[in-house]
Amino acid sequence: MKVKIIEKDERVIKFILEGSNPQFANALRRTMIGGIPVLAIKEVDFYENDSALFDELIAQRLSLIPFVFEPKELNLPEDCSCEGKGCMQCQVVFALDKKGPCVVRADDLKSTHESVKPLYPEMPIVELLDGQKLKLEATGVLGFGKNHAKWQAAKAFYRYFPFVEKEGKNSEKAIEACSKNALKFENKKLVVAEDCDLCGECMKVDPELKISGDETKFIFTVESVCGLPPERIVISAIEELKKKIKSLKKDVQKIKK
Ligand SMILES: [Zn+2]
Repeated sequence: MKVKIIEKDERVIKFILEGSNPQFANALRRTMIGGIPVLAIKEVDFYENDSALFDELIAQRLSLIPFVFEPKELNLPEDCSCEGKGCMQCQVVFALDKKGPCVVRADDLKSTHESVKPLYPEMPIVELLDGQKLKLEATGVLGFGKNHAKWQAAKAFYRYFPFVEKEGKNSEKAIEACSKNALKFENKKLVVAEDCDLCGECMKVDPELKISGDETKFIFTVESVCGLPPERIVISAIEELKKKIKSLKKDVQKIKK
């Protein structure tokens, strides 16, 4: 398997996965979306809330805040030495104490872990009018997007890499018909660029032309929706898949005995 990065910025990574198959590509896609540990607020204790929003609404808004965090500093509650009771290794506690008039923002949450910060500090939570107070303590834990959308790591999708399976008799017309300008001649051979989304318009004007998707080569787009950079999400997903395979191997070895 080979990987070639086509584009990368702070939130999105695009890459080509070569020498693979649809089953693996789909397992990777699903793991990147909902199978890697992400930090989100799970519980909120309210001490004072005079705002216009109910406790539940504020708690829901808090749970959707994406946090920047260092995955190595935190354990999953179920894997922690505290056995899920809750400790500094598996929980991040946030304190908030504000008095109006003001807009309470994500940055007003003070965390017990220095490395944990809201990805968008300016994200508004609630507006407090003159004299209104909001005081709460929130607990964040690692979790998986497959259990709740607040732990979703990324939006990830892929498409098959296009290739010209068979040239037709009217390539000039086919080139013209492509709205993406993905078809062209190279050394007198018709080739198709990766921008092609297999819409089929070219095959309508040139019925003998056949453009197909390569089932061993995929163009991936991964957009981070959590505090982790997109390349970290890809690496974490591969690590999670490895863990699953290892545990499967252990179980199968037990059967052998
Ligand atoms: Zn713990």
